[in-house]
Amino acid sequence: MEYRRLGKSGLQLSALSLGSWLTFGNQISDQVADELMGVAYDAGVNFFDNAEGYAEGKSEEVMGRILKSHGWERESYVVSSKVFFGTENKGPNRVGLSRKHVIEACNAALKRLQVDYLDLYFCHRPDKNTPIEETVFAMNTLLQQGKILYWGTSEWSATEIMEAISIAKQYHLIGPTMEQPQYNLLERTKLEKDYQLLFKEHGLGTTIWSPLASGLLSGKYTAGAVKDTRLDLKGMEWLKESVLAEENLKKAQQLQGLADELGVPLAKLSLAWCLTNPNVSTVILGASKTEQLKENLTAIEVVPMLTPEVLTKIEDIMQTKPVL
Ligand code: NDP
Repeated sequence: MEYRRLGKSGLQLSALSLGSWLTFGNQISDQVADELMGVAYDAGVNFFDNAEGYAEGKSEEVMGRILKSHGWERESYVVSSKVFFGTENKGPNRVGLSRKHVIEACNAALKRLQVDYLDLYFCHRPDKNTPIEETVFAMNTLLQQGKILYWGTSEWSATEIMEAISIAKQYHLIGPTMEQPQYNLLERTKLEKDYQLLFKEHGLGTTIWSPLASGLLSGKYTAGAVKDTRLDLKGMEWLKESVLAEENLKKAQQLQGLADELGVPLAKLSLAWCLTNPNVSTVILGASKTEQLKENLTAIEVVPMLTPEVLTKIEDIMQTKPVL
C-alpha cells in the first residue's frame, strides 16, 4: 500500500481507503461489512470514512462494533465522521453546523463508533444558516478537547474554504486541513480548477468520494443490469437517473473498450486515474461485495500503465477536463 500525506499535515493516509455510504447498516449485512474492513485493513488501508448521516447513524454503529471486535490498535487506523445531515431524529438544532449541533453530533459519533476521538471530522456540506466563524470556533473547541484531531469540509466552494482559513488565521485558530469532494472521470471541476490556489498556497488535503461514480466507471451498467446494486435501493431513484444518463453510459462503454485494449478491468483503470492526481490524498473506495473491494485494492498496479498516450485517449473519450 502507498501512503500519502493529508495535504501539508503530518498525517499519512493510505492512498486507497474505505467508506461506508449506502452500504454499512443499509445495503449489506454486518457480516459483509466486517469482511470488507478486514480485507481492507489487511491490505494496508488505514482510513475508514463515515458520517452521522450514513444510514441515519447505523453506519457508525456497525463500524464501531467492527473496530472493537477486531481489537486493532487505535494508532493503526484513522476514522472519520461528518456533521450536517443529522441522524433519524431531525429538528432545527439536530442538523447543520451550529456550535450546538457540531459539538453534540461529535459526542454522538464518538459513542456510536466507540472511540475516544475522531481523527478526521468533516463539515458534510456548507450551512447557509450558520456563520462560518461559529463553525470554525466549534471545531477548535473539539480540537482543544482532544475529541477530534483534524477538521475539514466536504463539498464546500473554494471561497467558503478560503473564508474558514482566513477566520482561523485571524483568531490564531486551526483551519480546515482537508476537503472531501467528489472526484472521478466525470466530475473534475472543483479539484482540478476551483481548489488550485488552496492546494498551492494552503496545502489543503483531499479525501475524494465516488471515484467510480457509484459503479458506473466499473463499466457494469453498459451491460444494463441494475438489480442488486445501489441504484436498485429504495429512495435512490435520483441517483439512478443521474448515473444512467445516456451520455454517461456512452462514455463508460468507450472507456471499457480502452480498458479491454490494456487488458485491465475498467474499475481499476478509473481508480488508477484518480490516483495520478497528486492533489488527491486518498481515494475512498466503496464496495458492497468483498470481490469488488479486492479488485479495487489492486488499482495501484495500473497507475504505471497510464502513459501520456493513454491519458490522452481517456481525455478524448471523456471530454470532461475543465478549462482553466
Ligand atoms: P464509488 O463511486 O466507487 O461506488 C462504489 C460502489 O460501486 C460500490 O458500493 C458498488 O456498488 C460499486 N462497485 C465498486 N467496485 C466495483 C467493482 N470493482 N465492480 C463493480 N461494481 C463496483 O464510491 P462511493 O460512491 O461508494 O463513495 C466512496 C465513499 O466516499 C463512501 O463510502 C463515503 O464514505 C464517501 N462519500 C462521501 C460523500 C460526501 O458527501 N462527502 C458522498 C458520497 C460518498 P453496488 O455493488 O451497489 O453496485
